Amino acid sequence: MKTGKCSCGAKVFFDNSQCIACGKLLGHCDRCDEIAAFIPTAIAQQFACSSCGTTTKSCRNRRFGVCNSQVPIDHGKSLCDWCEFTEVVPSLDDHSNVQKWKELEKSKRQLLSQLWTFRLPPHPNFDGDEKPLRFRFLADSVDENGNVVRTVTGHADGIITININEADSVYREKQRIKLREPQRTLIGHLRHEYGHYLDWCIPQSKRSSYIDLFGDPQAIPYSDAMERYYAGQRLHNWRASYVSEYASMHPWEDFAESVNLYLDILAVAQTVTQSSLPREMTIDVSTDDMT
Ligand SMILES: [Zn+2]
Ligand SMILES: [Zn+2]
Ligand SMILES: [Zn+2]
Ligand SMILES: [Zn+2]
Repeated sequence: MKTGKCSCGAKVFFDNSQCIACGKLLGHCDRCDEIAAFIPTAIAQQFACSSCGTTTKSCRNRRFGVCNSQVPIDHGKSLCDWCEFTEVVPSLDDHSNVQKWKELEKSKRQLLSQLWTFRLPPHPNFDGDEKPLRFRFLADSVDENGNVVRTVTGHADGIITININEADSVYREKQRIKLREPQRTLIGHLRHEYGHYLDWCIPQSKRSSYIDLFGDPQAIPYSDAMERYYAGQRLHNWRASYVSEYASMHPWEDFAESVNLYLDILAVAQTVTQSSLPREMTIDVSTDDMT
């Protein structure tokens, strides 16, 4: 994961909001994309980025503790580039939702930072075709008849919806065991759903090897595949051809699970390169190798 340096010289990390060595404000700069220190200016609530010198103000969501980004004053925005991707946040009347929202934003920021680093959509878009990406973090609700309406985690038309219960580690652990999904994590959910987004984004002209690698999604009705999977009709030797058991359900899930694993491996490699390991032990993950 991305790291940076405070102006006092201390190494700082992706989610840091204040330097424990010198007390300066820390965070992500929307202008230079660095994790940096922010120095108070003569104007109240305005801070200069120690990396690029841009005058910034704090993202509006910083006051909830869910974001550590600084927005350039000349952007004229109150939310940072990353918070703008979130279309719906959970109701903050329930205080426990703030902690869940914080966990969700943290994972979302990790995902977006990784997409930026490796120049994956939506930055830039394929073929100039605008394919917006949005996130909705929603709780279950109750309808007028008193029935619980479940929020289903998934992707549709560029919108990734996550049930905020997934940010509750106890709930997630129970689901992990029940559904036999050993890799079930919050960032894993976001990477998986991003895989569906990517699948939706990629134009037909760039799909020449898709069917060879993942199968023809149109040949297998998704609802049939899902029904069979949850009825226990699963591929026993899935390890021979798939990255996870869930990937064996349908070509769309195979693609999403493959993207999830690919991003996971890239994140590990990026963390290793940014760590203090001796140079000969690091891995080169320059973007030139990712094309
Ligand atoms: Zn410092
Ligand atoms: Zn900056
Ligand atoms: Zn923000
Ligand atoms: Zn899926």
